[in-house]
Amino acid sequence: MSSSEFYNPEFEALSRAEIENLQLERLQHTVEHCYAGSRFYHERLDSIGIKPSSITSLDDLRKIPFTTKQDLRDTYPFGIASVPLSKCVRLHSSSGTTGNPTVVLHTQRDLEQWANAVARCLYMVGCRPEDVFQNTSGYGMFTGGLGFQYGAERLGMLTVPAAAGNTLRQLKFFKDFRTTVVHAIPSYAARLYEVMCEQGIDPRRDLALKTLVIGAEPHSEDTRKRIENMLGVKAYNSFGMSEMCGPGVAFECKEQNGLHIWEDYYIVEIVNPDTLEPVPDGEVGELVLTTINREAMPLLRYRTRDLTRILPGDCPCGRQHKRLDRMKGRSDDMIILKGVNIFPIQIETILMQFKELASDYLITLETLDDNDAMTVEVELSDMFIDDYGALQRLEKEITRQLRDEILITPKVRLVPKGSLPKSEGKAVRVKDLRKQYQ
Ligand code: ADP
Ligand code: ZN
Repeated sequence: MSSSEFYNPEFEALSRAEIENLQLERLQHTVEHCYAGSRFYHERLDSIGIKPSSITSLDDLRKIPFTTKQDLRDTYPFGIASVPLSKCVRLHSSSGTTGNPTVVLHTQRDLEQWANAVARCLYMVGCRPEDVFQNTSGYGMFTGGLGFQYGAERLGMLTVPAAAGNTLRQLKFFKDFRTTVVHAIPSYAARLYEVMCEQGIDPRRDLALKTLVIGAEPHSEDTRKRIENMLGVKAYNSFGMSEMCGPGVAFECKEQNGLHIWEDYYIVEIVNPDTLEPVPDGEVGELVLTTINREAMPLLRYRTRDLTRILPGDCPCGRQHKRLDRMKGRSDDMIILKGVNIFPIQIETILMQFKELASDYLITLETLDDNDAMTVEVELSDMFIDDYGALQRLEKEITRQLRDEILITPKVRLVPKGSLPKSEGKAVRVKDLRKQYQ
C-alpha cells in the first residue's frame, strides 16, 4: 500500500509492535496526568493502592478499575476532568438516549486531535480535498455535527454544514453544490431516498453522490446494502460516542469488513459483561475503551455498554489497527421477553432481507391478558403489489423467519409506507408498554 493512501502514515501505518510501544508510553502518561489532575481518578487509584508508577506494561491496565456511565453521572458536570476548566474550550454532552446526559470536556489540543482522527477516517474511504462534504447531523451538543465538520475541514473538503432535517433543502444542496460525500444516520439515509423518489430525483442520474458515511445507530449489513443500492453510493460504517470525543473512534476501511479502531488514541478491551473478564478475539462482549490521547477528560477503562467483538486476522488493507465487528447494540438495548434475550438488530437483519419491505419498523412489547407479547410493525416498500393473498403469505413467511431467529412468535403487521412515526434524530425502534415497565 502506498503512503499516499494514508492520511497520517506516522500513526496509521504502525506495525503491531510499534502500536503497542506507543500505547504503553501514552497509557503511562495518561495515568500520571489523571492522577495529578483529576480528583476522581486520584481518589480512585489511591483507594486501591495504585500509583502511576505501578503501570509498567499494557497488561497492568487491568489493575485499574472500570469507569462507568454512572461515574460520569455522579460527578456531573465537571468532576472527572484532569485539567482546570480554564484550559477547556468546549463541552459536549451525550444525546441522553438512555438516561441523564453526561458531559465531556475538550481542550484545544483535544479538538485538534479529534479533527485529525475524523480526517483520517474520511481519507481512508477515499475522501479528498476535491470532494464536497454535506453533513446532515444536528449541530450542537450531538458530536456528529461539529465532529465531522472540523474533520472534513481538516482534510480540506468543501463542507456544507446543512444540519439535520429539512430534506427538500438537503436535496437542493446535493444538486446545487454537487455534493459527493454525505454523512447521515442510517434511518435518515433511507428517508433521503424516499423524498428523492417523491421528487422524481434519480440519485445516479441527477446527483454526484459517491460516498456515504453512516453511523451513530446499529444497523445490519443488509441495511447498508439497501442504502448503497438506493443511493448508488458506497456506505461506510462510522462508530463513535461522546465520551470518547464523538465520531472518529472506529471506522470501516474500503474493505468494508470491520471498523478499524485507532489504537494510537484508544486501548481496546472486550470483556464479558457479567464477569468483566476479557474474552478472546472473535467472541462478543462489552467494549471497554481507555483514551490515551486526551487532555481535558481522559477516561480509563470506560465501559461503553456496546456489544461487539474483535475480528481476528489481518485486514487486507494493511492497517494493523484492530477491527471491531459492526455493533450488535448496547447491553441496555437488549429485550428480555418471556426469559429470552433478543436484540433489535436480530429482527432488523431478518426484515431487511425482504425486498417487499421498506426500511422502517417498530417493535412494540405489551402485556395482553397477562401475557407479554411482541408486535413487529414494518412498512411495505413500493415494490409490493397490493394483493391480500400475497400480503398474508408474506406476513406468514416473515413471522416464520423471525420465530426461527428469536425463538418467540411475534405478531407481524405490514403497514403502508410512511405510516410509522419518524424521529428527527436516532430512530426509535422499540416501544415497551409492558406492565412492569410502566
Ligand atoms: P447517546 O449515548 O446519548 O446515544 P452518543 O451520541 O454519544 O449519545 O451515542 C453513542 C452511541 O451510539 C454508542 O455508544 C453506540 O451505542 C451508538 N453508535 C454510534 N455509532 C454506531 C455505529 N456505527 N453502529 C452502532 N451503534 C453506534
Ligand atoms: Zn482495513
